[in-house]
Amino acid sequence: MTSLTMFGGVNEIGGNKFLVESEKTRVFLDFGQSFSLLDDYFVDWLKPRDRFGLRDYFALGLMPKLPGLYRKSELEDTNLKYSEPECDAVFISHPHFDHTAHLCYLHPEVQIFMGETTKTILKSAQTTGKSIFFYDEDVPKVKKGEEEPNDVKTFRTGKSISIGDMEITPIHVDHSVPGAYGFLVEGKDARIAYSGDLRSHGNKPGMTSDFTQKAEEFEPDALIIEGTRVSASEKRKNYTELYVKEESEKVVDGTKGLVLAMRYPKDLDRFRTFYELAKKSGRKLVISLKTAHLLSSLKGDEALALPDPLKDENIKIYAREMLKYQSWESKLLEHTVDSDWMAENGNNAIWELDFLQLTELIDVQPKLAACIHSMSEPFEEDPMSQLQDEVLHNWLDRFGMPHHQLHASGHASKEEIFGIIDRVKPKKLLPVHTHGCAFFPTHVEMKKEGKIEI
Ligand SMILES: [Zn+2]
Ligand SMILES: [Zn+2]
Repeated sequence: MTSLTMFGGVNEIGGNKFLVESEKTRVFLDFGQSFSLLDDYFVDWLKPRDRFGLRDYFALGLMPKLPGLYRKSELEDTNLKYSEPECDAVFISHPHFDHTAHLCYLHPEVQIFMGETTKTILKSAQTTGKSIFFYDEDVPKVKKGEEEPNDVKTFRTGKSISIGDMEITPIHVDHSVPGAYGFLVEGKDARIAYSGDLRSHGNKPGMTSDFTQKAEEFEPDALIIEGTRVSASEKRKNYTELYVKEESEKVVDGTKGLVLAMRYPKDLDRFRTFYELAKKSGRKLVISLKTAHLLSSLKGDEALALPDPLKDENIKIYAREMLKYQSWESKLLEHTVDSDWMAENGNNAIWELDFLQLTELIDVQPKLAACIHSMSEPFEEDPMSQLQDEVLHNWLDRFGMPHHQLHASGHASKEEIFGIIDRVKPKKLLPVHTHGCAFFPTHVEMKKEGKIEI
């Protein structure tokens, strides 16, 4: 018998953590953190006490309390006893936080599988940020004692991997981050397809069609499919990446001064959109140190074919004036420009400026400038995102910069999702990563931590 237990991702956006189990084999699909669940108990500086490992997470039901899943050091201050691994592997669909954030707690002997690009992106993110996604030789031993490295392996699209009596085949999909996959899981007596996060209106819709076709041929007993946008209001149109590019071009052409471009850091399709726009308009694309590190890390990835930030003449790297730089930043400093350069040359630049770096505008004093906000609009139900939007508008008003909302979602529209379901025709339908289960046709009623027989 094959069963499925959802430890997250049910009636919430993200936090996907799905256990597929047979008599002999236990495999997790994704191991992320919910965007909203943590917010029920924590805000700003009220945070789980990481010094106590998983204690606070277990007490508040934020992590599954399963034996044989976690590192010894994470369990020392909890009432779950450490035991040898009872899980064979974790398969990661893509590098977003809501699919990967809890990997760092895993027992080092649990094998972790992810795409090569996902691994590179996570490694760059943990070098340049505060999160640890997995332990390897580059991660300083910041936690209690010596942490044994995780066992991270990489896969390619279409190449099956055998784990016990299961065979798992990753198939690439298009999403707002490169290196995204869905999975086909073949057990002894059941077949499960899982979409990961996907869309059909990005730069590579062919990858999502590949997944749909392979899933259709697979004739799955169950399809686990994301539904982030099925309940979105009709007002929110399904804009494409091409639309963002064309509309952004109009903004760039119509702006005499600097153009600010704000996007999600891992959205490299959007980076490419702004890069090509900069090239076409004869402007320089000014990127952050973090983006420079990420692009340099992905330099060898031929399929992505991203520009080398240290050599490409269309790119400049911006370094903020700091009292102290991290060592990865120091290595890039000789290639950077500063606020004086921006003040002088900003009229011929598209500047990818992060919300947390808006203070740089004080040193640059842009004139006749504009801002392309290339991220989600603030969510009505989320006061923090409303507040952030208000603050952004205050900054832009202060410098007389018009705000242009131009974004294409990383997630499929309702029509795209239903199109996939119509083609795959699963026996059982399991909507995840959504608040809109009710919008789906006949589907399995799921409960968090409830076992479903497939
Ligand atoms: Zn997600
Ligand atoms: Zn995602």
